[in-house]
Order: sequence, then structure tokens, then C-alpha cells
Amino acid sequence: MGEKFLIINAGSSSLKFSLYDMPETKEIVNGYIEKIGNDDSFYTLKYDGKKLEKKRIIMTHTDAVQIMLMELLKNNFINDITDIKGIGHRVLHGGEFYSESVLIDKDVLDNIKALIKLGPLHHPGEIAGIESMQNVMPNVPQVAVFDTAFHQTMPKESYMYAVPYEWYTENGVRKYGFHGTSHKYITETMKKQLGKENVNLIICHIGSGASMCCVKNGKCYNTTMGLTPLDGLVMGTRCGTIDSSIIEYICKERNLSIEEVNTILNKKSGLLGIAGKNDFRDLEQLANSGDERAKLAIKMLQNSITKFIAQYYVELEGNVDAIVFTAGIGENSISLRANIVNAISNALDIKLNKEANSNIARFKENQNGLISTNDSKIKVFVVPTNEEYMILKDTYEISQKIKNNEFVKTLKKGN
Ligand code: ADP
Repeated sequence: MGEKFLIINAGSSSLKFSLYDMPETKEIVNGYIEKIGNDDSFYTLKYDGKKLEKKRIIMTHTDAVQIMLMELLKNNFINDITDIKGIGHRVLHGGEFYSESVLIDKDVLDNIKALIKLGPLHHPGEIAGIESMQNVMPNVPQVAVFDTAFHQTMPKESYMYAVPYEWYTENGVRKYGFHGTSHKYITETMKKQLGKENVNLIICHIGSGASMCCVKNGKCYNTTMGLTPLDGLVMGTRCGTIDSSIIEYICKERNLSIEEVNTILNKKSGLLGIAGKNDFRDLEQLANSGDERAKLAIKMLQNSITKFIAQYYVELEGNVDAIVFTAGIGENSISLRANIVNAISNALDIKLNKEANSNIARFKENQNGLISTNDSKIKVFVVPTNEEYMILKDTYEISQKIKNNEFVKTLKKGN
């Protein structure tokens, strides 16, 4: 009989979970507990094509874990909590400690706690999720899968900022990069697709949060997000790269605190700041009806992507095996992909296969494939990302090593 594995993604006031049968990789149920700590908290469960929503006051992550287990037992998804053989946690920040997923022990939990200052919005909820699971299931292997881990192979010239060196050594100021689990999944998929290990890729993960990754010889060489996910591309509500002097200037001009400006740059900027909408579907609709701000916002997002394609093309010395589009916008927006490929077409001798591009989108249920022509100098692909699969895979592999007494603890210390 298969073993059950739980994947947990805890936010500051939410807890997402999925239960899988392994090694079949079959999802049995997933759930989303929202507004933890509020008196209007509720949760949804999805299984067998059904969706159930229930209202329940859930004050803490420990309560959320109890509700989750109660539902798993009540609906016979598990017969007993000992059916669960491993738990994978999505963790935002691994700092310089972790370049791969790890079994959570006391040291690992201490390190995740020490990184709260770099992930103040995410880590408290994630830690609460881990500790709540440890309390209920102290003997089940729990694995941390870090959003930063894949990017730890960047060379120093990619990850350093030109600020006083002590800011790096004493305060940890450097580029860490995020969406690493997605970029790793795409890299692994493309290795198989192209039939080679040492792939050179430019990956465009364009969702509400968006980042790009330059993959050299199968490893991350550069990425667009920085110390935090605010940097790089124009995003749904984040500004991306801006002149950092804007912060002091606008604090004084509009009589705002640094915290207020930081919140605005994260939550009220990007596409939302320019056009008043952050959902790309709404924005495309507005642009099609002639809205100038919507057109501007889309053009700014596209330009930020083409700018980094150009940079990464040069960093890869022109040896690019593929440009890959993924995540909500990258997988679905036919026009965004067409505009980007057309914008770089002359400079990089890349040609779009219009028909193939128009046929690929999740809503068309044709989700992946080549969208460049046979005579295009660089291949362009659409590949749906699957971060949850990566978390599950790492959790399963580590738990199997523990079961077979092959587990070796790995820890990369910062330099
Ligand atoms: P995140 O995981 O960062 O929340 P997603 O990867 O789910 O983001 O992407 C969400 C974005 O994808 C939204 O801006 C949404 O409008 C966009 N999107 C989803 N479907 C489509 C579509 N059919 N056409 C254009 N954009 C889409």
C-alpha cells in the first residue's frame, strides 16, 4: 500500500495543504485555511472534483493543523495520523545556509528563526506551521524546501550589491533570489526535454510575483529578485527595480514612513500602481478596450522582461538552449509571449511560431510545447511550473533515505 505525504505552505494568516499517495504521486485532497487569527476564518477542501467550504474560528496555526488533521481523519483520507510518513514545508528563505532541501531538526529550525529578519512576512507563519506539526507528529520526518536554495550557485559578481562590504558580511545584504523551486523544476524538465545536463536557459516565471533565472551549465548563474522578492521585474503589485533614492524622496514629499513606503512598493505598485489592476486578464481586457494606462503597464512589464533576456543572453555568451515561459501569465498570455518574442526577434534572430503560440494556454488545455519556428536561432518553450511536485519529490527522497538509513545531514555554512 502507498504511503501518505503532506505538503504544507503556511502564510502569515493561512495554511495550504495537500495530501499525496506515494510513490504514485497521486493527490488525494488539498485544502486552504484562510484568515487564521480573524473571527471570519474559513477553509476549503477539494477532493474527487468536489469543493467544500466551511466557516470556523481558527485563531492560531496550531488550531489550523488540528482542523486539517480532523478533516483528514473524518473523511477517511487517512485512517490514523501514523499513515503520514513525511511532511514537506515550503520555506521562503534559506539565506546562505541551504542550497538544497533539508530534514528539519533543531539546528535547521533555529536557522529558519534566525532568518525571520529576511522573511518577516513569511517566516513566522512557516515556523508556526512546522512547530505545530512537530508537536502533533514528533517522529515523522519534516523537510524544508527553500525558495532561495536553487540560486545559491550564483557567482559572487552576480549576487553582490555595490554597497559597503560589511553590509554583506555583517548584515547579510546580497541577492538571494526567490521562486527557486519553480526555476529548478523548469531546469530539470528542460534537461529531460533537451536531452542534456549542461543546459543554458533563460527562464521567465511570470505570475503575480515574477522573476527570471539565467541557468548556465544546468545551474543558476543569475536571477532578478534580490535580498527580497521586491527586486527585478515589474510585477502584479511590486515595483521591481527602481532608483533606491526614490524611497527617501517620497517619504519626505508625501510625509510617509519608510515602512509605509515599503508596503506601497510591495502591495500598491507594479501593474496595480500604474493601471489600477493587478490581474493580468483584467489588464489585457482594459488594454484591448483602449485604456492607455493598461497598455503602458503591460509595455513596462514586457520591457522589464526583454531587458533581462538581453542581459542573460550576453551572460550566456549567446549560447542559449532555450527561453522558457512559465507561471500564470507566462503559461497563459498568448499576447505577452508574442510581444516579447517579437521584441527580441531581430536582435537575437528568434522567430515565433504564431500558431503554436496561439494554441498553448492552460485554458486551452494545451499547456506546454515549443513556440518558436524550426529556423529560430533559439528555441522558445512554454512549460507549466509545478513547485508542489518539487516539494513532494524532495520530501519523499529524504524520507526514503531516512527509512533506508542512507541519510547524511548536509549544511552549507555562509562564507
Ligand atoms: P502567483 O503564484 O504569483 O500568485 P500565478 O502564477 O498564479 O501567480 O499567476 C497569476 C497571474 O496569471 C494573474 O495576473 C492572472 O491574471 C494571470 N493569468 C491567469 N490566467 C490567465 C490568462 N488566461 N490570460 C492571461 N493571464 C492569466
